[in-house]
Amino acid sequence: MYQRVVLVHYHEIGLKGKNRGSFEQRLLANLRFLLGDFPVVDIHRISGRLVVFLKEGCDLALACACEEAIARIPGVARASCGFKCPRTMDDIGRAAIAAAAEAEPFATFKVQARRNHTDFEVDSMQMNRDIGGVLCEAYPEKQVRMKAPDVQVDVEVIQNSAFVYAKSIPGIGGLPVGSSGRVACLLSSGIDSPVALWRMARRGAVCIGVHFSGAPVVSDASEYLVDDIAQVLQETGCILKVHTCALGDYQREISVLAPPPLRVILYRRLMFKATERIARAEHARALVTGESLGQVASQTLANIAATDQAVDMPVLRPLIGTDKQEIIAAAQELGTFEISSQDAPDCCTLFMPRAPETHAKLDAVLEAESAYPVDEWAEALAHDAIVREYASPLSKKRS
Ligand code: ATP
Ligand code: MG
Repeated sequence: MYQRVVLVHYHEIGLKGKNRGSFEQRLLANLRFLLGDFPVVDIHRISGRLVVFLKEGCDLALACACEEAIARIPGVARASCGFKCPRTMDDIGRAAIAAAAEAEPFATFKVQARRNHTDFEVDSMQMNRDIGGVLCEAYPEKQVRMKAPDVQVDVEVIQNSAFVYAKSIPGIGGLPVGSSGRVACLLSSGIDSPVALWRMARRGAVCIGVHFSGAPVVSDASEYLVDDIAQVLQETGCILKVHTCALGDYQREISVLAPPPLRVILYRRLMFKATERIARAEHARALVTGESLGQVASQTLANIAATDQAVDMPVLRPLIGTDKQEIIAAAQELGTFEISSQDAPDCCTLFMPRAPETHAKLDAVLEAESAYPVDEWAEALAHDAIVREYASPLSKKRS
């Protein structure tokens, strides 16, 4: 049997011109780190792809598990299980038979051969015909189909060897984490914010979570849920740390004096101010929230404007144009939905007014806020945050 490999295809990073090298290096480093539990011998860049070489004796089930893990990593457009073999037509034919067997069930196929060195004596058209012939002999019940076959058997001939693969799965796409700088994500234990964080990570951002719990006024249960969520995000290298701030006492103070309809906006402005301070200390350049327009009272355009005014950094809202069903589907795919569906009081359920303002006027908000030393509070919240680190290719911490 030939050596098992998983080929890693990427589109978007292939388009980055001069930056291409650094994007590939980033993806390669992320794969090395995240595939630590698989029997990987090495990972190399080979003619516009990365190839993950698996240890001798690695069986199909383990190779498929590795392929699936790779497909979930940001920056991967497609992952394909296959074989590396010597550069002879006999070997390529045998590897094609083995690769096709693993792509069962299928009724139709075609061969797509490429050689990136013209020193190989057989050209790609001829390879297509010859390997196609070998497969027709091995599988007389299968049909060749050029347009939309069930399975495509790829052959790539490089300088010293050939790769043959037939079993491909689509990847998550996007850019490798670590290629777009850092962001600070307001992470509740709800459904939306983990999805927002994930969307940013898929665009290459390194994410630092910031969670506000209702401690010491209510239990710290939300902190445990956020930790569980971060463990899921850690699997794809998306999250570096979570800062947890105890907001309960500050919320209580705000709720004593502030006009009830404005309370939610005041809580949120305080969260933004503390998060901005944490972001600066962490060299992050934007805040991220899981808001979606009109979803709840605090997410109207007027209220968004009134909270954004509390900070200087850009506030990114990757879910602003999505609806709840789409977000739930994304959370299910990500693996955070079950955790987020558990009930835990976080800060926002405390001291909630009966009728929150939906069209906050900035003057009124600023006036209500002027009763409190909010900048001092924000400083204290950021300073007293408890920081938990997660295993990430961008940190020193190993899982
Ligand atoms: P989520 O499901 O993400 O909690 P939501 O629909 O419940 O969102 P809100 O509670 O209004 O909406 O929160 C909007 C956004 O504000 C959240 O997506 C999150 O980014 C941030 N946020 C809310 N509560 C907290 C919290 N306790 N800690 C950190 N961020 C929070
Ligand atoms: Mg919430």
